[in-house]
Amino acid sequence: AEGGAPDLATQKKLIEEYLSLSLKKGESWYLVDIKWFKQWKKYVGFNQWDSHISGDQSVHPGPIDSSSLFKQGTTTLREHLVDDLDYVLLAEEAYKKLVSWYGQAPGQEPVIRKVIEQGMFVKHCKVEVYLMELKLTCESSDTTTTITHSFSRVDTIATLEQEMRRLFSIPEDKEVRLWNRYMSNTTFEQLSKKDATLQDDGLYQGQVIVIEVKKEDGTWPRQNVKGTGYSGASASTNQDSNSQGTSTSGSSNYYNGYGRNSTNNKPGRCGLTNLGNTCFMNSALQCMSNVCLLTDYMLSNQWEKELNKENPLGMRGEIAVSYNELIRDIWSGQRSYTVPKNFKIAVGRFAPQFSGYQQQDSQELMAFLLDGLHEDLNRIRKKPYIEVKDSGGRPDKIVASEAWENYKKRNDSIIIDIFHALLKSTVQCPDCRKISVTFDPFCYLSLPLPIKKERQIEVIWVPMSAEKKPMQRKLTVPKAGSIRDLCLAMADQVDVSPDKMVVTDVYNHRFHKIFKMEEGLNNIHDRDDIFIYEIPVSEIDRNILILPVYFRNRKYKVQNSNQNLVFNQSLFSHPLLLAVPRQSCTYNKLYQLLLQRMSRYVKVPNDSDDWPVESSSDADEEGPLSTKCSSVGASNGNCEGDGGGGEASNGHIASVQQMDTVTCQEGNINAPNSIKDSAALASCSTSLPVSRSKRIFTLRTTDNIGRDEADTDLLDDGSPLRLTNQTYLAVDWLKAAKDCFFDEKAAEDFEEHESMKTHHVPTRTVIQLDDCLKLFMKEEQLSVMDPWYCPDCKQHKQATKKFDLWSLPDVLIIHLKRFLYNKFSRDKIDVLVEFPIQGLDLRKYIINEESATCDLYDLVAVTNHYGGLGGGHYTAYAMNKDDSKWYYFDDSSVTSSSPDSVVTKAAYVLVYQRRNSQHRKPTLSGKSSISRTSLSNTSSSSSLGYQERSVPNGVGAASEDDDMETN
Ligand SMILES: [Zn+2]
Repeated sequence: AEGGAPDLATQKKLIEEYLSLSLKKGESWYLVDIKWFKQWKKYVGFNQWDSHISGDQSVHPGPIDSSSLFKQGTTTLREHLVDDLDYVLLAEEAYKKLVSWYGQAPGQEPVIRKVIEQGMFVKHCKVEVYLMELKLTCESSDTTTTITHSFSRVDTIATLEQEMRRLFSIPEDKEVRLWNRYMSNTTFEQLSKKDATLQDDGLYQGQVIVIEVKKEDGTWPRQNVKGTGYSGASASTNQDSNSQGTSTSGSSNYYNGYGRNSTNNKPGRCGLTNLGNTCFMNSALQCMSNVCLLTDYMLSNQWEKELNKENPLGMRGEIAVSYNELIRDIWSGQRSYTVPKNFKIAVGRFAPQFSGYQQQDSQELMAFLLDGLHEDLNRIRKKPYIEVKDSGGRPDKIVASEAWENYKKRNDSIIIDIFHALLKSTVQCPDCRKISVTFDPFCYLSLPLPIKKERQIEVIWVPMSAEKKPMQRKLTVPKAGSIRDLCLAMADQVDVSPDKMVVTDVYNHRFHKIFKMEEGLNNIHDRDDIFIYEIPVSEIDRNILILPVYFRNRKYKVQNSNQNLVFNQSLFSHPLLLAVPRQSCTYNKLYQLLLQRMSRYVKVPNDSDDWPVESSSDADEEGPLSTKCSSVGASNGNCEGDGGGGEASNGHIASVQQMDTVTCQEGNINAPNSIKDSAALASCSTSLPVSRSKRIFTLRTTDNIGRDEADTDLLDDGSPLRLTNQTYLAVDWLKAAKDCFFDEKAAEDFEEHESMKTHHVPTRTVIQLDDCLKLFMKEEQLSVMDPWYCPDCKQHKQATKKFDLWSLPDVLIIHLKRFLYNKFSRDKIDVLVEFPIQGLDLRKYIINEESATCDLYDLVAVTNHYGGLGGGHYTAYAMNKDDSKWYYFDDSSVTSSSPDSVVTKAAYVLVYQRRNSQHRKPTLSGKSSISRTSLSNTSSSSSLGYQERSVPNGVGAASEDDDMETN
């Protein structure tokens, strides 16, 4: 331990207490590199950590070094860092203690983040790992610079103003105003509540903030931008409360006040105020509001007659009531924007019961809204119990209509009328060919995007040949692949069988992990140092052992608490994997093998070479070994090899064949080694001058992190060493010998393969909606992790499954699965998906001839998501049912738009309406189905576990993660 630091047990105890602390709003927490922290845990013997290596002595973790969390040479955190995989969060006190004991790596600042409250409906505390970047500009005569600056979401508007005054050098005595500029670029909203937080005001990542300085003549620069632009402030202006600016048409510049401009306000063209992180809700609401079939129903009095307050699955009518209130407001034509406060409260009251409900996903809110409205407006007052029948090989038509009838016995509402239809799922057992067919209602289609899910991993390839330098390469592998896929990608480049490769994660000069072939690539993070070693034989070869080898500086005897003499040794250089014969490998053979393996950077001493004598303690260490192996020269290995005789004299061993030689010999080395060695020695001594041996390093066994264990010295008496596949070797160097013979720079040197220069360019930059539909309906095999229980085989099987559309609803919601989440990776696919504004033809996808009558669809609304994970903003495009024109909804701002601008990379949820459907009375006679897999997954009556997972109605698209912060 460091001077002044308590003993390890105390350290462990002190820090342990902090690890169970829960987050409190406003606190500061510290990010620390997980690798450092894990090393520290090992060092102090944390019991949670692999128990077999917890001990009293270990490798010192060194000063706290979190540089790997940052983009190289910047103070910006790398993207997509994951808690507990990349970093650990430590409470302030814990961090300060660790720094006082271990210090901080030079040039590093602590990574401090604030605890903020998150969540729309259910607040939970969270450390704000990623700050929010705002784009700041100054609305003054001479400057148009935009400065990007990071803020915490809990910083106040006052802080923002202060920072902007500083950045744009605006004197304190000048009066300023702050504006939030919408994406439409034509609408501004004043930020006037100084004590509101950035989160309260619904500011989001990438938001443009404009500061405006009052001119000498007492006017404001923005006042003159457009003469008529100020009209909004007139009627019912509410200056002292949260003055919300808004715009009702594309030509306006801004308004400053709660505008009720009777000339400009039109039904449906009504913005929704951001209530702090509610843009996802607003965008979903604008889409729904522009579904005329639903809105017309809500504006009539029909909904009230159907309101069902008793439905135990419903929301006591509150969702329907608050939604109705909102829709009436939006379509009153009285307002340019409204505050969806009651609706938010109503949703908040019921949302928590929906497990898996991701609170900040626009698509999920839409699904939640539809489900809530359905149950609140369900015409069925008492749901009968329905028994699910197996399809049993009956015709689709019969099974489908039975399914739909059963469904309708429990579910009958305007939502079912408009949004629901039937999806056919076919599952087939690969072994007994048992086919299971089910028909499930859906209220949206979650379409996968046909993107090759690949990633690139940088590796260092270490060839077996001692002469060849390692080479850094970039390998392209399937994202969901295994270590074997990585080896296959490597094999393509180097002509070595994947069986003769070992993939490792090297950290601090040792093997942090040696991977198994079947392990997932999600275990490899972008910043890991992955080394792939070539080995001469497949690892399963029984005659050969592959031993991990560490290099150690051996020095200074120190005393540990038990009064034992121990050596303080530090690791250096890259570790190696060495192939050795399982049987009959003597100390000397091992020594020679290593010399040969290291020949690129280790010089073999000449007879004339001499290196300084070590200090007494070190000499003691070396002493016994020197005497024991007095007559064994460095040439022994060369004699056994082919023609290596002369090589010792030039100072380097260059026998490339050595390893293979040993491998070949393996089978026939049965004779006692001492005899063989002495025979070899005898023959050598005639051709080579053998000096009194001075080995330049010593060999010991060690553990996986390079510590000495009891009885680690290897016997150098010519007898076979007892090596197992658990053995780790340490090559111990004394300083003087290392200085003479070990070229550390050469040892760590590697070449850069040209693949390092390539950038991964996705092969497809544009995708057609049709491709997504085809992929959705393509037959696929279920994964090992996700099998199907075959009722005939009575076993879980990797069955094939296929979806087909049996019928379509009047309003079809298509969700593009842009967000990919799993436990280890997340990603947003930013590719452009082209979709038709008019005439989406789905007839070819309908397998039921009778319901394929007129399935041409026209787009009515789209939600957009801008930005990546961990930040972002939602808006919506929608076509007004009254004037059939397109508008852009960005929270409280509404601007005119056109169909041309709707198809963008941001499009996330598409709402299509069947052509002429408003003139048709909804009829569902041609449709049919069984159980409804509800959003809450509670009313599923499916008998096959498979359905609940795969039917895209409900939580199918939900993620395990609620990390997406949106506005
Ligand atoms: Zn089967």
